[in-house]
Amino acid sequence: MSHPDHNFSPSLSPNPYGWIPKSLQTLHRAHWYRQVQPIEGKGGATIWLDGQPCLNFASNDYLGLAGDPRLAAAAADAISSYGTGSTGSRLLSGQRPIHRELEQAIAQLKGTDDAMVFSSGYLANLGTLAALVDHRDLIVADQYNHSSLQMGARLSGATVAVYDHNNLAQLQRHLAEKRCQYRRCLLVTDSVFSMDGDLCPLPEILDLADQWDAMVMVDEAHGTGVLGASGGGAVELLGCRQRPMVQVGTLSKSLGSLGGYVTGSADLIDFLRNRTATWIYTTGLSPGDAAAARAAIAILTQSPQCLTQLTENSTYLRQQLDQLKVKRLPSDSPIVCLQVKDAATVLALGQHLQQQGIFAAAVRPPTVPTSRLRMTVMATHTREDIDRLVAGIKDFWAGGVREELSL
Ligand SMILES: *Cc1c(COP(=O)(O)O)cnc(C)c1O
Repeated sequence: MSHPDHNFSPSLSPNPYGWIPKSLQTLHRAHWYRQVQPIEGKGGATIWLDGQPCLNFASNDYLGLAGDPRLAAAAADAISSYGTGSTGSRLLSGQRPIHRELEQAIAQLKGTDDAMVFSSGYLANLGTLAALVDHRDLIVADQYNHSSLQMGARLSGATVAVYDHNNLAQLQRHLAEKRCQYRRCLLVTDSVFSMDGDLCPLPEILDLADQWDAMVMVDEAHGTGVLGASGGGAVELLGCRQRPMVQVGTLSKSLGSLGGYVTGSADLIDFLRNRTATWIYTTGLSPGDAAAARAAIAILTQSPQCLTQLTENSTYLRQQLDQLKVKRLPSDSPIVCLQVKDAATVLALGQHLQQQGIFAAAVRPPTVPTSRLRMTVMATHTREDIDRLVAGIKDFWAGGVREELSL
């Protein structure tokens, strides 16, 4: 075996890990460096940070179910019946009755034939994409799709054509130019964009898919249990329940547990059970997580008024922010973002709010193209909670930082 012909010189490179501290320095310089922040106790509308109570506008627990005693009781029951681990792949020794109960409940919530649950939404997306398309196929994807959809598209080996965020004309151009060169085609999009809060034009995307013989995969991570009269997601809200598509999502946001799912026709799910590596070659979802998610769906079905409360709270926050005349990104969901000039300013705003006992996410590149304060509303927030958030933002301006924000 001959050595590759580049300037390889072991003596000049004594530390093959030396690039890591250098990369960390670069991250610090760009204000891109990130750290974990421990929260004591349960999540919820109010949390404990650094020993202080703090209003929580940074969680995906839209319905406040992650700390609900009914979910905890369901998880504890399942753990005492089935144990903490499911001990194997679902296809071998990992299947418990609670898995099927959960999958049937998801299918009912979404109005589909069947569903399958994964250990996370990320794994559901990676595995589903890699099972549906390969190097002979074309994926047409929104620029702002979640990391798991982007990585899954790469993993699949398909050709990936990306269109500008929600730009249907560009989506159509990709189809017109490329569709005929490929076997299958899959249009992939978030339904609610996780770092912006706006929705995809799903009916139009489904129409284009029909016209160009393409499948559609839609990620309802921030839609299910959030939007639609019964919590069926953006698909329900936008009147698309009857149309064929592949829906994916998570059990870890509004459903307050951990895990992911894919749902659709009986044939689709039957196929995926046989072909999805991130479901077959991994341990089944834990019984406790499965039971907690099952309990969340039961609560949602029995008391859908929590959805109305969530929508009212989201609308109220948007209205209050608009009175401040700040630059708010378009939103049709509980994810509401304030556009901020740069990473340093958004960090200052986040810190200012935290000093006032308010927790909201300062989101920066490379997670998003432009820095923003990302606030997420919960059904369990009160009007006073939202008023305090808005007052904290107003106060930041009054403190002389106003010109720092892009207006
Ligand atoms: C959170 C999220 C996921 C991943 O779900 P997990 O269950 O947390 O792995 C996938 N897609 C979108 C759009 C998300 O926001």
